Amino acid sequence: MKKLLPTSTAGSLPKPSWLAEPEKLWSPWKLEGEELVQGKQDALRLSLQEQQHAGIDIVSDGEQTRQHFVTTFIEHLSGVDFNNRQTVRIRDRYDASVPTVVGAVARQKPVFVEDAKFLRAQTKQPIKWALPGPMTMIDTLYDDHYKSREKLAWEFAKILNEEAKELEAAGVDIIQFDEPAFNVFFDEVNEWGVATLERAIEGLKCETAVHICYGYGIKANTDWKKSLGTEWRQYEEAFPKLQKSSIDMISLECHNSHVPIDLIELIRGKKVMVGAIDVASETIETPEEVASTLRKALQFVDADKLFPCTNCGMAPLSRAVARGKLAALSAGAEIVRRELSN
Ligand SMILES: [Zn+2]
Repeated sequence: MKKLLPTSTAGSLPKPSWLAEPEKLWSPWKLEGEELVQGKQDALRLSLQEQQHAGIDIVSDGEQTRQHFVTTFIEHLSGVDFNNRQTVRIRDRYDASVPTVVGAVARQKPVFVEDAKFLRAQTKQPIKWALPGPMTMIDTLYDDHYKSREKLAWEFAKILNEEAKELEAAGVDIIQFDEPAFNVFFDEVNEWGVATLERAIEGLKCETAVHICYGYGIKANTDWKKSLGTEWRQYEEAFPKLQKSSIDMISLECHNSHVPIDLIELIRGKKVMVGAIDVASETIETPEEVASTLRKALQFVDADKLFPCTNCGMAPLSRAVARGKLAALSAGAEIVRRELSN
């Protein structure tokens, strides 16, 4: 019998301090050359072991080989000039210095396929691999070539599909696309955002997921959240279209967030990764708190479609806090599993 409520994380986990400065986004590597290659693999092994010790069912690489969930992917593409940087407003929220698209974008070589093979060789557990979604990619760049967000998104969707097919062949069980931009650009989501996401998953036989969140616990995000009022209804905009889409799973934020839980009803029929861990707080949830979030979600998701998860990545947290949160997630899921089997 398949285990009910398999746990997983949204993606990133903290890196060891010998690899990159901890509790920081875009933290530069501390090693170089062959040492960096080895160091990333060792960090991946550690991250996997921490997930296993915490009892996480669907494991990941903890994004140990990437500096950032979007830019590391883009760095591997041609047509993007990293020396030519422009300041743009990311997700309509904060300014960042980003690279410029100067020509046709293309993927000359695989990006994460070797890392995925490495992870696959370390474990027999199901593995999930995260990629940035097309809309979130274009939102982290300055485009001086296509001059159209939609056009560039279609190009990235094609590239992501190439990468996803090779990740699938490497043995990845779930490929997840991170689309925090879906919570911001509602007209575009409905005009072409979901369509480009479906292009990115075209022909895949493994499970596919989209992760939509309110971001890491960094200041720009927490300030933005304060401006959203008491009820966060952003999911209402993208969910109806996603419910009709070919994507299998949707990863969303629940615990400590102001998202009305009944919005999950809008994606009835999909598998749902329910965020039961707040990544913007250092406070470790109790198993009972996790269980309570899962019980609320069960009103709108069938038990066999519920996947307990974190709200977002945990890269900016300390390793001790992240480990505590993973253990709480497992323990909370176990409480509800026992209730369901009674
Ligand atoms: Zn996220």
